[in-house]
Formats: sequence, C-alpha cells, structure tokens
Amino acid sequence: MHRHTEDRPRVERAESADRLPAPAPVLGAAALDVAGAEDEAGALAGSEEPRDVGRVVGEVAVHLEDPVGAVLERPVKARDVRRAEAFLPHSVQDVEEGELAGEALGQLAGSVRRRVVDHEDSRAGVQAGEHISEPSHDRLEVRPLVVSRQADDYAHPRIIARVAQTLPSNAQLAEQFELLADLLELDGADAFRLSAYRRAATRIRESAVPVAQLALDKKATRLSGIGATIEGKIVEYTETGDLAALAKLRGKLPTGLVDVMHVPGLGPKTARKLWVELGVQSEDDLRAAAEQGRLAEVPGLGPKTQERVLVSLAKPKKAVERKTLLGRVLPSVDEAVEELRSHPAALQVSEAGSVRRRRETVRDLDIIATAADPAALTAHFAGLPWVAEVVAQGSTKATVVSHDGLRFDLRVVPPESYGNLLQHFTGSKAHNVGMREEAVTRGLSISEYGVKNMETEEVFTAATEEELYEFLGYSWIPPELRENRGELAAAREGKLPKLVELEDVRGDLHSHTTWSDGRASLDEMVATAKELGRTYLAVCDHARRLRDGRLEQQAEEIADVASRTKGLQILRGIEVDIRADGSLDTSDQVLSDLDWVMASVHSGFDRERAELTRRIEAAMENPHVDCIGHPTGRKINRRDPYDVDFEALLEKALETGTFLEINCQPDRLDLDDNHARAAAEAGVKLVISTDAHRVHELANMRLGVAQARRGWIAPDQIVNTRPWREVKKLMKKQ
Ligand SMILES: [Zn+2]
Ligand SMILES: [Zn+2]
Repeated sequence: MHRHTEDRPRVERAESADRLPAPAPVLGAAALDVAGAEDEAGALAGSEEPRDVGRVVGEVAVHLEDPVGAVLERPVKARDVRRAEAFLPHSVQDVEEGELAGEALGQLAGSVRRRVVDHEDSRAGVQAGEHISEPSHDRLEVRPLVVSRQADDYAHPRIIARVAQTLPSNAQLAEQFELLADLLELDGADAFRLSAYRRAATRIRESAVPVAQLALDKKATRLSGIGATIEGKIVEYTETGDLAALAKLRGKLPTGLVDVMHVPGLGPKTARKLWVELGVQSEDDLRAAAEQGRLAEVPGLGPKTQERVLVSLAKPKKAVERKTLLGRVLPSVDEAVEELRSHPAALQVSEAGSVRRRRETVRDLDIIATAADPAALTAHFAGLPWVAEVVAQGSTKATVVSHDGLRFDLRVVPPESYGNLLQHFTGSKAHNVGMREEAVTRGLSISEYGVKNMETEEVFTAATEEELYEFLGYSWIPPELRENRGELAAAREGKLPKLVELEDVRGDLHSHTTWSDGRASLDEMVATAKELGRTYLAVCDHARRLRDGRLEQQAEEIADVASRTKGLQILRGIEVDIRADGSLDTSDQVLSDLDWVMASVHSGFDRERAELTRRIEAAMENPHVDCIGHPTGRKINRRDPYDVDFEALLEKALETGTFLEINCQPDRLDLDDNHARAAAEAGVKLVISTDAHRVHELANMRLGVAQARRGWIAPDQIVNTRPWREVKKLMKKQ
C-alpha cells in the first residue's frame, strides 16, 4: 500500500505534460482516410484464448505455475517501468534531432510512434517540414502515404518524400509472438519454446510502455519473461515489419491452419494431420471436408469428431475477446483518477461504469469529472505518458488507450449535474431502467442531465448522487448493488444491508509460500500481511508438496518466524486436494495437528454433476476440513464453474459447519457474487481469502471484498472479520 503512493512519479509526469507545445496544424482529410485504411489493413488485435495444453496435466499445472501471476505482477512491474520513465524521453533525445521533427520530448507516446526517419526530403524537393505536421493532441499518425497523397498534387512527385516510421503497438507485437507460437506448435516444436513465446506475448500486450521502443533501446529485457532472443525478435519486427522465423514457417505451413488448430476439439496434431491427409489449409477447407464426410474417414478421428467440428464451425464466432479482469485494471484506474485529481483544473473526479460497480470483468474504463477548466483537464489526460493512443479528444471528453490496451473514457461534466451524470454513467443499465420505470409512475422522467417533472416541466439536477437518490425517494445505493437485483425496493424501504468493507477484514486464511508453489518466503509473506494490517495469516501450502517430513520442517520455520513476529499470528494451515472419490490427500491424523484446513478440487472437473457434488460433500463431512477453497472451480476466460448441485453443497455446508471461500485471485473470484449471496442467504459462513502466491497478491483482498459486497454480504457473514480466537469458536468441533 505504502509502496503504491511512493511509486507514483506524478511530479515528473506533470512536468513533461507542461512542456507540451501548442498543437501543430491538423492534417487534411486525405491524411485521415489514408491513415484509416492503413489501420484496417494492419494486423487485427488477435486475442486467442490460450488453449488447454494437455487437459489433466494442464489443470494441475494451472495451479502450480499460476500463469495468472504474470497478470498479477503487472501493476507492480508496470509501475517499476513507469517509474524509470525518464529514460524513455532520454532515449528519444539520443536520436538525431532531424529525426524528431520538432516533436515534444515529453510526449512519450507521440514521439515514439512518430519518429520520423528523414533521408529523402532534401532530394525530393518537397517542403517536408510543412507536410510532416505534428499534431500533439489529436495524434493523427503521420505516415508515408499521407505525404504521398499530398505530394500527388505536385507534378511528378516522388512517391515517398519522407518515411515516417511507426513503431508497432504492443498488441501488434504480441500477435506476432502468438502466431509464431501457433505455427511452431503446428510444426511440432517443443512445448518449452512455445510457452516462452506465449508468455512473452502476454507480457508485451500488458506492458504499460511501448515495448518496441524499449527493445530498440535494448531495455526490453527488463520486463520479466523477455530475454535477449525475444528482444532481438522485437527489434527485427520493428525494423523490418516481419520475422525471419515467421517467414520460414509460412513457407512450410499454410497460415490458415492456425484457425483449424484453434477449432475446439482439434489442436495442432490433428490440424497437421488434416492438412497432410486431406489438404485442409483453412477453416473453409475444414468445413467442406466435414460436410462431405471426409473428416470421419481420417484414422483416429471418426464421425463423432466430425460432428463436433461441424457444430463448432456452425456456432457464430463469439468475439474471442478475452474479458479484462477487474484485478488487472483497478490499479490503473486508481492511478488515472489520482492523476486527474492532482491536476489544478480538476474539482471532482470519480471512476464510473462497471469498474465502479466492481464487476469481475470490465470493458471500457469510465471516469467522470468536474473542472474549472475542462479543456485543460482533457488535454492533460490525453498527454499522460502512459497513453499510447488518443482516440478522441474534445474540450469535455477524451478517449485514450494505454500501452497495455486499456481504454479510458473521461467526461468532464457541469458541477450542478455531477450527481445525475455520475449516477447515469455508473449504471448498470438494468438498475437505471428499473429506476426510470419507477419514476415514470410518479410523473418523473429521468435522463442523465436531470429529473423532469412531467407536469410542471421543472428539471431537478443534483450535484451529488446522494441528492439524486434522495429526491427519488431512495437511500443512497452502493455502486456494487446497482444491478437491479432488488436494491431499488430495499433502498426505498431503507433496508439495504450494511456491506462488508476491506477495513473489516482481520486476517487472511489462505496463502502459499515457497514451501509449495508460492513465489515468496514465509518471512516475506508474513511481513507483507502485517503491513496490510492483518492480525493473522494462515499458511496453506499444498499438502502434496509437504510430504517426507517437509510439513514438520515447515512447522519449525513457522515457529521461528512467529517468535520474531509481533502483532500477527501465523496459523499452521494446509490446502489439501479433494480426490476423485471424495477422500483427501492427507490423513486425518496429520490434519488434526493443524490450525486450519482448506480443501479444494484441483483436477477432474469434467465429471458428472452428482459425482462432483458427492465428492465435495464428502470433504465437508471430514471433521478437520474448515473451508472449501474456490468452491466452483471456475477460471474467468478459461473455465466455467463445474457442474455441481450448489444447493446441495449449501445444505451440507450448513449441516457440517463448513465454510465456503470467496477466493480473491482475479481470475477466480470464486464464489462469485451470485453464489456468495445465495450462500450467505442460506446462512453459510464465508471466508474471503487471497490464496496469495506472491506478496503483492495479499492485497487482492479488496477484490474478494468487492465480490462479497456485490453479493449483499454484511461483515458478520464473513468469518475472517473476526479476531482469530473468535474464528476458532465458529470452527467445527473435532
Ligand atoms: Zn487451490
Ligand atoms: Zn491455494
């Protein structure tokens, strides 16, 4: 937490923004349509979901390797890079002056993307300096064809007067590595190389700085997951627009095979086989082959596969867009809001939209503000160093995309109707519709600008949300509840629950250390938990990693660290696997010795509903099991919750006194809001715990608390809002 504030390089950034020059002349219409066309022609943002690599092994590996870690690491790492941001403008300064064409050094994104390589202009006889206009704010990209279009007005112009080198975006680079990995996989390369490229792709995509520029400066290896080889490839792509490795593979394999490989149920080996045996080179070929019944004849495939392929090809292609996790965006949103607040023109600034409601995944990030000088605020926002692209900018609105691909919408609104607009843009749509429908019955018409009395035509505007809700006859509704799930009626009757808050949480009952698959030592985890204000921390390393005396050795270390730690109690916990038959992977005798036992399903999710339900029920019946970890097993973007009879689980939890977890990992958030609400309403006690594998993940507690709030949950329904001695009283009597 404290690190968060220290790291903010606000002063540096404000300075660089202040140095922005006045906007230069805007490009003509020709520039717009050429730039547009080139954008369309450019590679599309591909976002294939990583396929399950080897189902069973994969499931275990998912937990062991914790690929989300890369995502989780991002905010911290990204900020590390940002802190060193001064080096980026410097690196641009190193470039010869002629190349910069008067670009403001402080404007990082702009200077990087529009670095002009100027070899030809003197010979071309075109007044290059005038044609290469450098709009600082609208960020139209200056590209060669723009110049050539203008040059076409001259007699016999040279086609290219100047070459504006546009650096590839992080998303473009990431796609190259994803494609490379896919083609290598088709080519039968070893899994290690593939996963290195895929990891690099993720890291590049989520980097908050332009990685192409970093690589040119030989600094990309500062990003974890990017070594010298990959850095070399980034430079190669940036300079030549292609990769030799890709070109080679394209010569060997049809690239359309990548789509075939991604059809559910196929995969690289089958795709290759279909190409060799049937000449299938694309999805269209695949469809034709399946329709003609040729697929079924390929050895090892059969009619079932053929049918499945036809079914998946018939499905409308869902946007394969991966949903952006709340945990990934929250730090960025916090930072953007604080950056805006610190600007002298800003009066009020608030997040809005689904991120304010703390939905588990979000799309665009909305920010609402009031300002003494709205244009100054939007200009400041558009000029922030983490901005990769300004999509739109006016005096009261700005839409920007950060280097890590997050899209922010800032709206500056009049102070007198800030309450109306903030409420409107917070949503949800369902909540707002519900509110409007109620209002209409009372002769009121609600819009984002005010509430109109339809008889008198009087319009009520609200400077705060509280005033608006009060005017409409409600108590103020916490954003997390605004989903039209009964909150309007409850607010009218003054019966909204008092929701749990982060400050209510006393301890964390699920964490890992280097004793199993955690990345931080016990010492480090304990120190951070203490810093975060926790008064107890349960160390729950995986039982399967604590065999052969390691559990006892760990106990010694816990005792040792405990003897040096004041104000935080370290609990000896464990996370045991619930096996397919419902038994645990650890004996009762061992468990009886421990302070806290989490039992979780980590494999075999695809069993029958009854079997899975029975399996978890059996674990609950064990007198030593205190809590079921990530009870529905879902992973956002990767895996649906498993098919269990949730009602039956709730009954069993009540009967046995077993708690259920709200797991705070950003891609788990399991139980989710709806399940958590159902559990709490049934009277089941819940634990909000981080399952942290790294120190910074201990701060994910806020994500679980947000889910609990979305689930209408009060502090006393959460076990770990109590001191440890009170928790013990709630636990099963053994
Ligand atoms: Zn687990
Ligand atoms: Zn765990």
